[in-house]
Amino acid sequence: MNDMSNKLNKVNLDLQCPVCNQGNLYMIYKVTKIPYFGGIITMTIKCNNCSLRVTDIMAISEKGELPVKQKRITFRQNMSDLVILSAGSKIEVPEIGIEVYISRESGGDITTIEGILRDIRDKVTSLMQNSSNEDKMILEDILRKIDNELNTPSGKLSIILIDENQKSAIISNELWTKRVEEERSKMISPDEIKRLGEEIIEHYKDSNFNQS
Ligand SMILES: [Zn+2]
Repeated sequence: MNDMSNKLNKVNLDLQCPVCNQGNLYMIYKVTKIPYFGGIITMTIKCNNCSLRVTDIMAISEKGELPVKQKRITFRQNMSDLVILSAGSKIEVPEIGIEVYISRESGGDITTIEGILRDIRDKVTSLMQNSSNEDKMILEDILRKIDNELNTPSGKLSIILIDENQKSAIISNELWTKRVEEERSKMISPDEIKRLGEEIIEHYKDSNFNQS
């Protein structure tokens, strides 16, 4: 791929490391452009002195702020929609009472609606191993509902993505599978990238140093 924006970049964050209080933080990142949407930034923040390493994935829309809450019903045409899960976001599937949290440690994930269902399926399957018979029946019912939608998607489940930081997104598959031939997407400015890095470190400090 010849896309200039898809290479690795490095930026100095001009921030002192919150762990060793000595080193400076820098960020290595990659921007993947998606026409008519914006971009996906994958980033790793490191300290030049200690072993601090914080990773995250963020979606940036060229049309402004992303919504806190986004939703897809499991219809066939939605199953391969791309889902950008930034750290701190959450997936809910209300029909089967499932909530999945994307931890700061996991550093985010890129998947699809179908991928989310498969992931939940794996988690439910491993939960079943040590469950009582009563719980097993409930879990089996959940598995059946997931399998039905994976085999013949009929809109019986809703995948709800919630991200208070507005850095997660569900991107329609017509958009993300389009070739980046037209240079329609605005470049994300270095200042904006730097600000995102600072934001991640703020969240990192919140979740590691301010817990009472
Ligand atoms: Zn450090």
